[in-house]
Amino acid sequence: MKFTVLGGGNEIGANAYLLEMDGTVMMLDAGVHPRRIGYESLPDFSRIDGRFVDALLLSHCHLDHLGALPVALRSAPHARVFMTRPSYDLAPEMLHSTVTVMERQRLEKGIREYPFYTHEDVEMVSYCFQGMGYERDFPICGTTSNAADVSCSFLDAGHILGAAGILLKGERETVFYTGDTSRADQEIIKGAVYPDDPVDTLILESTLGANVEAEGKRRSDEARNLARRITRVVERGGSVLIPAFALGRTQEMLATLHRLRAEGRMPDVEIFTAGLGRAVSHIYDRTARHSRRRDPDLKIDRLDIRALPPGDPAQGLHLKQPSVIVVSSGMMEARTLSHRIARAMLPDRRHAIFFVGYVDPNAPGYRVLNARPGDRILLDPEGEPVEVQCEVERFHFSAHADRQQLLRLVEEVTPSRVILVHGDAGAIQWMAEAIRDQQPWIEVLTPEPGVEYDLPPANA
Ligand SMILES: [Zn+2]
Ligand SMILES: [Zn+2]
Repeated sequence: MKFTVLGGGNEIGANAYLLEMDGTVMMLDAGVHPRRIGYESLPDFSRIDGRFVDALLLSHCHLDHLGALPVALRSAPHARVFMTRPSYDLAPEMLHSTVTVMERQRLEKGIREYPFYTHEDVEMVSYCFQGMGYERDFPICGTTSNAADVSCSFLDAGHILGAAGILLKGERETVFYTGDTSRADQEIIKGAVYPDDPVDTLILESTLGANVEAEGKRRSDEARNLARRITRVVERGGSVLIPAFALGRTQEMLATLHRLRAEGRMPDVEIFTAGLGRAVSHIYDRTARHSRRRDPDLKIDRLDIRALPPGDPAQGLHLKQPSVIVVSSGMMEARTLSHRIARAMLPDRRHAIFFVGYVDPNAPGYRVLNARPGDRILLDPEGEPVEVQCEVERFHFSAHADRQQLLRLVEEVTPSRVILVHGDAGAIQWMAEAIRDQQPWIEVLTPEPGVEYDLPPANA
């Protein structure tokens, strides 16, 4: 097989990988870098030039895997695009919202190349998406003269609605790409399913490879702790802001908070949400009976959750009476709801901001998370500094397997080769050392971006 990182190998960035098996060429994911803007945020699709890509396989609809898909198809116009059925519903929603963000950034920051694609482009490319059932084999037909078909199937990856690990069986070897994977059940989504049969090459995400804190954290303990801390804030008359990604984390947190409130573990206060998260929640509800759920009867729409009132989000009922507010972005990017509400809450010691997911060290949320009471921080470089007086805490509700769970996965699927991707340098290094230490017979590859690795069958 041949393997090339187009983006996202040694960082959590614009994930896109080119994989050739038996002459059949596939692209795994086509994402944008969450922290870069303009051309810098794209994978290096120039590496495809002159090659015929037979299929584009999407692991899930987070933008670091999906956001560049319409751009990728310009370099791979004949590629068939396969994803799971829930992703088929989610992808256009996420891409349209990306167009809106890019259009705004073009105006505000003068980024001339934005938008990379328009709403019409999204409509056009969506026509060629194919939504496939989980655990059903389908062929990827190679089109070059001596190419052999590869058999593909999607296995539920936990993580978020529609997420899949991608199992590829060629003539000479079996490859499994984990995508982003969660071993443990979450509040709504069940944990991942992994291949029963051994795989030869495992392409493994490494997000939490350097994260000791996340190891062995139990969701139930974190939820109990969260409820206790919310109770304290409410008792002193404050509100709690929970910044969350619109896809996945928002729905999981809304369901968790609703349960904690119904069980009487936290006070009976309003829970607010808004924006893209609400649209995604509808898709969660629509697919409740067609995807693996802990409770297929749970509908987010039916929970007692209110839409944030229209008008200035930095004022209003949600800040005047004790409430819990779940809005994006999870990292408090400039101009998002979480950013604007945080600016109003930070100087007020009654309030609290609780982080529940990954926060990039360059994101505004990171500066909030690491501020001490009384510090003045710059939420965004163009704005005024703001004094931090409110309570700030982080909780662990990750949708990624922790590093011990990743190592256990390697043990279970007994690969001859592991290719480490989707982690920062520290994470990849820890994973590589741990695998080499525990299972020295496994070949570990930490691929450099842009280099084509011509690899003999891993089981040879
Ligand atoms: Zn993801
Ligand atoms: Zn990812």
